[in-house]
Amino acid sequence: MYIVQIASECAPVIKAGGLGDVVYGLSREMESRGHCVELILPMYDCMRYDHIWGLHDAYLNLWVPWYDSAVHCSVYCGWVHGRLCFFIQPHSQDNFFNRGRYYGENDDQIRFAFFSRAAIEFLHASNKRPDIIHCHDWQTGLIPVLLYEIYKWHGMANQRICYTIHNFGHQGVWSEQTLRATGLNNDAYYYSPERLRDNNHNAINFMKGGIVYSNHVNTVSPHHAWEARFTSVGCGLQPTLGLHHYKFSGILNGIDYEVWNPESDRYVPHPYSYDDFDSKSLNKKALRERLLLRDAPEKPLVAFIGRLDHQKGVHLVHHAMYYALERGAQFVLLGSATEPGIDSWFRHEKEFLNSNPDCHIELGFNEELSHLIYAGADMIVVPSNYEPCGLTQTIGLRYGMVPVVRGVGGLLNTIFDWDYDQEHPVEKRNGFVFYENDSYALESALGRAFDLYYQNPQLFRNLAIQGMQCDYSWTNPGDEYDELYERIRHKE
Ligand code: ADP
Repeated sequence: MYIVQIASECAPVIKAGGLGDVVYGLSREMESRGHCVELILPMYDCMRYDHIWGLHDAYLNLWVPWYDSAVHCSVYCGWVHGRLCFFIQPHSQDNFFNRGRYYGENDDQIRFAFFSRAAIEFLHASNKRPDIIHCHDWQTGLIPVLLYEIYKWHGMANQRICYTIHNFGHQGVWSEQTLRATGLNNDAYYYSPERLRDNNHNAINFMKGGIVYSNHVNTVSPHHAWEARFTSVGCGLQPTLGLHHYKFSGILNGIDYEVWNPESDRYVPHPYSYDDFDSKSLNKKALRERLLLRDAPEKPLVAFIGRLDHQKGVHLVHHAMYYALERGAQFVLLGSATEPGIDSWFRHEKEFLNSNPDCHIELGFNEELSHLIYAGADMIVVPSNYEPCGLTQTIGLRYGMVPVVRGVGGLLNTIFDWDYDQEHPVEKRNGFVFYENDSYALESALGRAFDLYYQNPQLFRNLAIQGMQCDYSWTNPGDEYDELYERIRHKE
C-alpha cells in the first residue's frame, strides 16, 4: 500500500508531545511491513533541522488556492531517521510557520487550514495518489472535507482517509471565514449541523469535519473511544461520534522500541535491560549528579514528564511533588506550561524549592533530559484529568519505572494495579492506579508505591522488571492499522 501521513508533528524533527512520537513510530512500523510511507509536514522555522538528512527542493512552484487568489509555496524533501518527509514552506506575508513555535498563535486555525489545503494541493499537483491518506488531529481535519468535496472531482476519487484524534480537547473551532479561505465556498451547505457546524457554538469545527468526511475515525485507546462517545470527555462531539459510530474505534498507541530502548539509547549513560536491571541505579546516580540532587541511595526518585496543562492534572502533579518530599523521596519534574498562569505558578515553585537537595523542577521542553529521567527515576506519576492514550507511562515501563496513574483513557488500558487489579494475574501487573480526581486518591496509590519500595525493595524491583517485559511496541497496533487500512481501501 502507498500511505501518506499528514500531520503537524513528527518526532524528533517536530515534537511538542505524543502526536510527534506516534506519527513517526506508526510510519516506521508501516514501512517495516513493506508499505510505502511518506509524510507531509509544515516547514517550521523552529523545527530540529539537525534531524533531517539530505534536505533538498522537491517541488518549487506549488500554488495553493487561498481566498480569491493563490499562495506560492516551495516543498522540500528530506529523511528524518529514514522516513521520507515533505515540508511545505509558504511564501506569504502571513509567515504561517515562521513564528518560533509550533502552536499557541492567535491565528492557529488559519495557519493549519492553510497547511491542510496546501498538503492536499501538493498531492494533487505532484500526481501522488496514495491508497491511504492518514490525517491527525484538528490541524488536518479539513483535509477529508477538501478531498471529498473538491479533489475527488479532480482525479482523486480513489483515495481513502483514516482520521486519528489524539486529543478531543482541541478541535479547531473558528469562524466560517476559514471556509472561504480554503475554497469551501458554499457557507450554508458546510455550516449545517450534519457537516461542519460546531455542536455548541456558532462556528465551524475542523475536527467535526474530519469525523464526518473520513472513511474511518479512531482515537488512541479503546477506553478513550468509549469515554469520548459517552462522557463529557468528547467535548461536545458525542452526538457526532454517535451518528458515525459504525466507523469509529479506539486503537492503542505504541511506542517506537528503537527510539525508546534503554539498551541502546544514546542519551542514557549506562545502558541496561531487564536482565541487567542493577545498572539502572548508575543512571539514577548520573541523573542526580546532572540535576544536583543529593546522592541518597535509599531514597526513591519520582518523576513527572509532560505538558503542564489542566489535562495533565497539574494540581495533582503539584501535590505529588510535596507528598513525595514528605515521604522522604526525591522528585524531578520536567514540563512546559501551556498557559502563563501555570508557568508563573511553577516558576514560583522552582524558586521556592531551589535549594532543596531532593527536588528539581526543569521548565521547558528537553528531549535529551527526558531520556535520562526515564532511565534514572524509579516511579513516574501520571495523574491526568483525561488521557487519550498517554505515552509517558509506557515509555516509563520500558525504562523500568513503576507508573502511578489515574485510571482514565489509555492509562486504564496500559497500567494494571499491583494490589487490586482483577483482570490480570500478579505477574502481569505493572503499576499503581487511582480513580478519583483528588489528592487523597493520589496519596493512596503513590503511598502504596512508597510502602512497597521501602518495605519490600525486592518486590518493588520485581514489579519494575515485570513492567519492562510488557509489550507496548507498535507490533500490535501496527496489525490493527494494517487491517484497518486494508479494509477502508476497498470501500466505495
Ligand atoms: P501529550 O498529551 O502531550 O501528547 P503523551 O504522554 O501522549 O502526552 O506524550 C508526551 C511525549 O512528549 C512523550 O514522549 C514525553 O516524553 C514527551 N514530553 C512531554 N513533555 C516534555 C518535556 N517538557 N520535555 C521533553 N519531552 C517531553
